[in-house]
Formats: sequence, structure tokens, C-alpha cells
Amino acid sequence: MTDLFSKFDPLIELRTNLLAQGQEDPFNLVMERVVSPTEAICNGRQTILLGTYNYMGMTFDPDVIEAGKQALDDFGAGTTGSRVLNGTYSGHKAVEEALKDFYGMDHAMVFSTGYQANLGIISTVAGKGDYIVLDIDSHASIWDGCKMGDAEVVPFKHNDVEAMDKRLGRIPEGAGKLVVLEGVYSMLGDIAPLKEMIAVAKKHGAMVLVDEAHSMGFIGPNGRGVAEDQGVLDDVDFVIGTFSKSVGTVGGFCVSNHPKFEILRLVCRPYVFTASLPPSVVATACTSIRKLMHAGNKRAHLWENSKTLHKGLKVAGFQLGTAEPQSAIIAVIMPDLEKGAAMWEALLKEGLYVNLARPPATPANMTLLRCSLCAEHTAEQVQTIIGMFQRAGKAVGII
Ligand code: PMP
Repeated sequence: MTDLFSKFDPLIELRTNLLAQGQEDPFNLVMERVVSPTEAICNGRQTILLGTYNYMGMTFDPDVIEAGKQALDDFGAGTTGSRVLNGTYSGHKAVEEALKDFYGMDHAMVFSTGYQANLGIISTVAGKGDYIVLDIDSHASIWDGCKMGDAEVVPFKHNDVEAMDKRLGRIPEGAGKLVVLEGVYSMLGDIAPLKEMIAVAKKHGAMVLVDEAHSMGFIGPNGRGVAEDQGVLDDVDFVIGTFSKSVGTVGGFCVSNHPKFEILRLVCRPYVFTASLPPSVVATACTSIRKLMHAGNKRAHLWENSKTLHKGLKVAGFQLGTAEPQSAIIAVIMPDLEKGAAMWEALLKEGLYVNLARPPATPANMTLLRCSLCAEHTAEQVQTIIGMFQRAGKAVGII
């Protein structure tokens, strides 16, 4: 018998060696108690959270929590069914209405996660014989959606408009074409030149899908994302998003103005063949999304936090993922996995949690410490964070 697990041996060895040196496991941390959007108890220690996607700090919003509690009382713990059978409650319709209002679009379809939204929309819209042109640094859920739909997949170099233009130009005349882009790329925290890219896609007659998972609620005058910020939201055919970041709960969605959009509810397998979100979750999401429509002050404070942290880390001598802050994600580039893991642990001992990211999630084989800021981080917390980085960086020998 061939042990089907033997393919994991190199990873098992890497992990065993790392932990054998006394390194705390960076992928097995337990939050013992969560105190606020920016603080938790980890290993018995009060810890500042700088590695969540809680950009707008909505997880503890009193109105959001109240809506969830009320829905639990009124509708129970779960729907026990698919959206197309017994799993559509009034709350699911209400959150879809909130999304239509938030984006100013005609249609909204809610999935159980953002991963499933990408999987479902991409695989259903672009099938066998169609072409998907996508950025090589796309999120795993986008790649998996491409695979599931069986379309021809044509990747291009990250954020390279010319390369994208060339790839599109080589696709046979008359073939179905979908260009898939992200507003913010979550590993380095850089944004896409959507204005140029969407113009090129339209020139070639391609439909455009933009994943705005990391920009919703924060980027753009109304928090609709990078496409809104660059004035091209009307040219996007499908916006994909998630409730697991700025919205502060769990779930995924697609919004669109396509006149035939609603047919997807019957043909999109990751929508049909899974249970719908619990009533408490859609109630919290709905309340949060409606509050995010009026969150201009929070957005401004989050930009301040992002700029302060970027500058502080740069001045301290760290190598960062972007020359200027472009989003709420600041990526700190580590020389290798060992140093990255040591730095991650040193920060945790200082009382700071960040995300350690490594290949295959990261581009160009990089090990990153990804910092994501929250609108609820105070200016003092950001200064404390910079001090923690300086001390840990010196102790580990990175700066
Ligand atoms: N798209 C992007 C760009 C993401 O970063 C993520 C999650 N990190 C997802 C989609 C999936 O979102 P969810 O957590 O809702 O499954």
C-alpha cells in the first residue's frame, strides 16, 4: 500500500525541525479570551492584535452584537438547509438588500464564506471553453474556482497591465473571457491599478470580476473598495467580498448589475449544495454593513494608523512590502522562515500578535510578518507596537 500521506513528509520535517528548536508553533495559537477588536489573552498574556482582518473593528460593536442575539432568540441557531430550499430566512434577504444599498448595485448573492463566493461565481461564470485571465498572485479561492470550472487559465505577472493586455490579445476571437483581479493583494498589502486594467479588459471584450475582500468598508469614498476609489466601479461586472474582514463576522457575497444575475442562484453549486448562514450571522452582517455606510471617521483614523505604522517600521529599519502604505496591511519582509518564526515568537512575548505568512500563500517564496491595522487601534497602541517591533527586531538580529 502506498501511504497517501508521504507527499506531506517534507512539510512534516520542516515543522518538526522548527518546533524541535523550542520554537512556539506559529500556526497553532489559541486566543483564550478576546477582550476587544484589538486585544486578546494569548498564553495567559494580554496581547495586542495586529494580525486579524478586523479592519473596522465591528466584532464588538454593540448594535451588531444586539442584532445577533435577537436573531438567535427569534430564529434559532441555524437554518439546517440550502438557500434554495429551507435556508432562506428574512435575514438572508435583508443582508442582500444591505449589500445592494452599500454598493449601489442591482443584485447581491450571499454565500456561506468568501472562499465559496469565489469558488462559486468563477466556476459557474467561466466554464469549459472559456478563458480566465488572472493575476499570478491571486488568492487560493480564485485559483480553486478556476480549476473547478475547467476554463482555460491564463495567468499574468502581478499588477502588470502590459502582460495582461498581451495575454488577452492571444485568446481566440469570440471566446468567453473573464478577467479576475483583486483590489488589495493581502500578502504585501499593495493595490491593483484597476483603472488601467479594467480599460484593457473592456478593450478586449472581457467581463471583469474584482475581489474586494480587503478593501470593503475602508478604501473608497463610501468604502466600496479600490474600484470605487479609482472611479471604475461601474465597469466591474462582479464584485466579490466577504463578511470575515471589515464586516466582522463570516460569509461571502457577490454583487453585480448583470441583468441575468439571479439565474446563478440555481446553477452555482457552492451556493446550492451547502447550508446557508445562521440567522445570527446574517443579522450581525446586515447591521454591520449598514453602519459601515456611515463610517467616514473610522476610515480616516484607520488611514492614520496605517501611515504611522508604515513610517515607524520603515524608520526602524525593517524592509516592507510596499514603499508607501496602500491599505490597512503592512507586510514586514523576513530574511527566511527561521528568522521569521523567531521574530513572530519574540513579538508574541512582547505582547503582540501578527500573522506569519510563508509560501505557498506568499509571492516569490517570501516569509512575511503581516500586520493588519484596525480602526479601533488607538494612536498610543500604534506607538507601543512600533516599540515592540524595535525591541524584537534587535533581539532577533533583523535590524
Ligand atoms: N478573497 C481574498 C482575497 C481573501 O484574502 C480571502 C480570505 N483571506 C477570501 C477571499 C476568502 O474569504 P473568507 O474568509 O470569507 O472565506
